[in-house]
Amino acid sequence: MLEQFRARGVDDERVLAAMGRVPRHLFVPAALETDAYADRPLPIGGGQTISQPYIVALMTEAARPGPRDRCLDVGTGSGYQAAVLAELCGETFSVELLPAIAAFGAENLRRAGPPGDTVRLRVGDGWAGWPEAAPFDVIVVTAAPERVPPPLLEQLAIGGRLIVPVGRQDSVQVLERWTRLAPGAAGLRREELTDVRFVPLVSDAGR
Ligand code: SAH
Repeated sequence: MLEQFRARGVDDERVLAAMGRVPRHLFVPAALETDAYADRPLPIGGGQTISQPYIVALMTEAARPGPRDRCLDVGTGSGYQAAVLAELCGETFSVELLPAIAAFGAENLRRAGPPGDTVRLRVGDGWAGWPEAAPFDVIVVTAAPERVPPPLLEQLAIGGRLIVPVGRQDSVQVLERWTRLAPGAAGLRREELTDVRFVPLVSDAGR
């Protein structure tokens, strides 16, 4: 898996080491355990997926998580992306919309996540972020909104990075990195990283 990432240009050694430590096979449904390290997303129930390993590597590297950073993961799913962030960050928060999926992710993190109570979980609409825990140095969104949720931009610390796939379900989505350079709308830098395909970020607030 790590060789695959290097061949495609992910070369941050901290990210590679973290992904080497997290047992991905313990974050997929038991029946799919033998496919856990395959180069594709896998179903985790409820029409949701655990992202392809390379995409997790790419998004994590793009977020540049630091050891003292506060990180927010939107779309807990299996808990895998949260576990990878928790290896790299100071504090990790993760929000999931669907209660059944949230329970699956929580159980995976309990069994196979980093030791200690390092990922804080909440069931709710991640469009709103996690205002009480903001500001965040890193926000990683693993479901695609049609436009970037303004609350997530508001919850970015100065210097903070938001990684988010943006676009409609029936078209190509673009993985974007937003960096907060200064307060206010003018203080944001937007970069397009690559084309991706994610499940939709389902949100009443975002309509
Ligand atoms: N990061 C996950 C990938 C999960 S797929 C992993 O590592 O496995 C995307 C997840 O986003 C799904 O579980 C879906 O239920 C969730 N989701 C969709 N809309 C959401 C919203 N508005 N708020 C929080 N989670 C949402």
